[in-house]
Order: sequence, then C-alpha cells, then structure tokens
Amino acid sequence: MGLQIIPIGGFSEVGRNCTLVKVDDEAVILDMGLHMDNYIAYTEDLEELHGSKDMTAETLIRVNAVPNINQVKDLWPKVKAICITHAHLDHVGAVPFISNKFKADIHGTRYTIEVLSTILRDEKISLRNSLVAHPVNSKFKVSGKITVEFINITHSVPQTVVIAVHTPYGTVVYANDFKLDNAPVIGEKPNFKRLEQLGKEGVKALILDSLYAHTAMKTPSENIAKEMLKDVMLGVNSQGKAVVVTTFSSHIARLKSITELARKLRRRTVFIGRSLSKYILAAKDAGIIDLTKNADMVRYGSKVEKFFKKIKNPSKYVFVVTGHQAEPRAVLPRMVNNNLYRFDEEDHVIFSCSVIPVENNIINREKLDAALKKKKIRLFTDVHVSGHAFREDHRDFIRLLKPTHILPAHAEPKVMEDMKELALEMGYKPDKVHILKNGMQLNL
Ligand SMILES: [Zn+2]
Repeated sequence: MGLQIIPIGGFSEVGRNCTLVKVDDEAVILDMGLHMDNYIAYTEDLEELHGSKDMTAETLIRVNAVPNINQVKDLWPKVKAICITHAHLDHVGAVPFISNKFKADIHGTRYTIEVLSTILRDEKISLRNSLVAHPVNSKFKVSGKITVEFINITHSVPQTVVIAVHTPYGTVVYANDFKLDNAPVIGEKPNFKRLEQLGKEGVKALILDSLYAHTAMKTPSENIAKEMLKDVMLGVNSQGKAVVVTTFSSHIARLKSITELARKLRRRTVFIGRSLSKYILAAKDAGIIDLTKNADMVRYGSKVEKFFKKIKNPSKYVFVVTGHQAEPRAVLPRMVNNNLYRFDEEDHVIFSCSVIPVENNIINREKLDAALKKKKIRLFTDVHVSGHAFREDHRDFIRLLKPTHILPAHAEPKVMEDMKELALEMGYKPDKVHILKNGMQLNL
C-alpha cells in the first residue's frame, strides 16, 4: 500500500519510456514507447528473412523493442489509465502492441491521439481500450484515488504535456520529454504559472528527462532554429539550384518555419515521403495547423519517382524530404544513391537535425554525406536546436517544482549521475535523488 513508482522502461536505456505509479490498489501508466533501434532492427530482420510478422507483445518484449511489462504482471489488473505525454514513438509507439494487456483507456492530447490513431490504422491494429483526447492544461479523474493533470510544456512535437499524478499521498510529476522555450514557433510557452503553483502545493516526486544533464547551457528556443534556417535559406544564394531540406517528420514547428522561408524565397514547398504526410495530416486533423495549404505533398514511392522525373525547373521548389538520419529507405538517401533525383553541382542540402548518436545512424550519415560531397553538393548540417532541456533548464525546472524526491530518467546511467550531481549542488541530500533501473521500485 502507499505510493510507489516503478520504472518499466527507459531507465536502463534511452528509449521505450514507461513508468508505473501505484497508489494503494490503483495504478496509472505514464508513456508506453518503443526502443527505436531495437524495433527497427527487429522489423528489418523480419523483412529480410521474409518472415511472418510476429508482432506479439511477448516477442517484442523479448527483443527489447517495447517496455517489459511482465515485470509488473501482478499489477496489470490495477492499472486504471495509460497516459501519454507526447507523440514521439519512444513515448507512444508501444501502445499498439502492449496496451491490450490492460483494461485501461489511453489518454493523450489531441495531436498525440491523432498520431496514435494513424499508426493503428496503418498497422491495421484494433485496441480494446478507448483513445481519449484531452486539451493541454486540463485535469481528469482516472480512479478513486488518482487524478491526472496535463500541463502545457514545450518540446519538438505539438501539444506535449508534463503529467501531474495527484494522489492522497502527494503529487508525482512526470516531465519526460521537455524544454523550456519562451518563444515557441507553434503553441504556447510552458505553463510556468501552474508549475510554480504545483511547487507551492508540494511535489512529492519528479521524474525528469535528463538526456542533456551534462550540457552546461540553456536549450535555445525553436525561434533560434528558425533564425538558423533563415540564415541558410535566405542568406545563401541558391538561385538556379535545388534546395532540399530534411528534418524530423513530427517536428511540425520546424516544418512550418521551412514553408514560411520557402515562400520568402518564392519557391513552392513540396513534402516528400510517407512519414511526413502522416504527421502533417495529424496536425491538420488536430486543428493545430494546415501545412498543406501552401504546399504539395507526395507520399508514396512510385509517385515520388514520377514527381522527380517531371521536375524541369528545380529552383521553383523547396523539397522537404524524409531521411534526416540517412535511413537507407527514406527519400533523401534514395535521391542520392538510387538516382531518384539528378542533382546538379552546388545544389543545396540542408540537414535541419542532429545525428541521433547511435552507431547505425552515425555510419549511415557518414556514407550519405560522402555520397553528397562526391556529387559536389553544398551541405548545411546541424541547422537545428534540441527539443530537450539542458542543465540550466533542469536547474530552473527543479527550482520551480521543488520536488522532495528526484528521479532522473531518459538518459544513460552516467548522465543520470550528472543530474544527481546538479541536484546535490542545489542542496538535495543524496537519499532524495534516486537513480533507478527498469523493474526497481521506489516506495515513497
Ligand atoms: Zn520526445
């Protein structure tokens, strides 16, 4: 009995985020994400072997692609709700595969629920639980003892929330992922007022995105990313040349900036690739922004080929394509390696992203950069700012919420230690900062 926090995924690795908060005999699950590398490795192997698609919970748990919910099997019947912070796949992507084990509705903001619905439609999966969309800055009761609150925060997808779980034993705040952006390109600033109020009311425990706890900076605003893009797109002469931009498909704010700058260049934006269309349509359906108003969209493989063949004057367009991590089957690598597109010397390719530091990505990007350079393309890399808080944001966030206990999350163990060091620097006693691993349990 009492209040317990049980990390299920994302505490022993970066990915497959999932935390269970138990209050007496009721519980709520926060996030249900994929481990992207393990998931991609597994599904690619399947395709290569032409194997039947075994996507059962048991198999995906075995290959460490989804959170290992078997660690808390005895608690399954107690789970009253599954609450998702945002639409990134490492937070929502496991819902289609494991949420049916629970008799609990799935709650998220409208954009998150739209993205989830699209995945379910594409994968032809039906869930026994309902999907429930809530506005940012709203509260709902999930059981006798648990009330969940969604608080607006900034990140790199629209409608991201910090979740406060209110219980008779105190409030647990789950901030995984976030940044503190005072000038977001889409949506409102973080709800500082409510966060401060929560700090005054008392926060028992804070589960904290610590990915960049070692970086002594404040994360620049998304507005800065827009300025960086402006510098490259408007400040460098691209007359007569193709301009190709690649970024995260779910990063709607970034896509908005790109279309605005394209208009200033008097070029038409064309979004090319399936995953771009998926997120753009979700943003439209969630009532956030309709990026298709001033742009065209080419979704599927065969159409992409036809589209590029028809292009006579590339300097009329900005091509926004998938493949920011040089994934071999995405559009940009195929433009380069499969001659999907005939580049001219000194065409512009802009990477509005950073390389996610995983071995595969690093190797793929090195190869792609080399191939682009061989074609004498002008490369603009790292035109990007992060969606994750850095150390000085962590400090402000902790100061705002004044939690009794801090649980670093979403980071390698070494970086979690950096978060602990920051907490100690701020006056926390070592026994109040808990570096947990998946499957451990913290009794509060
Ligand atoms: Zn995220």
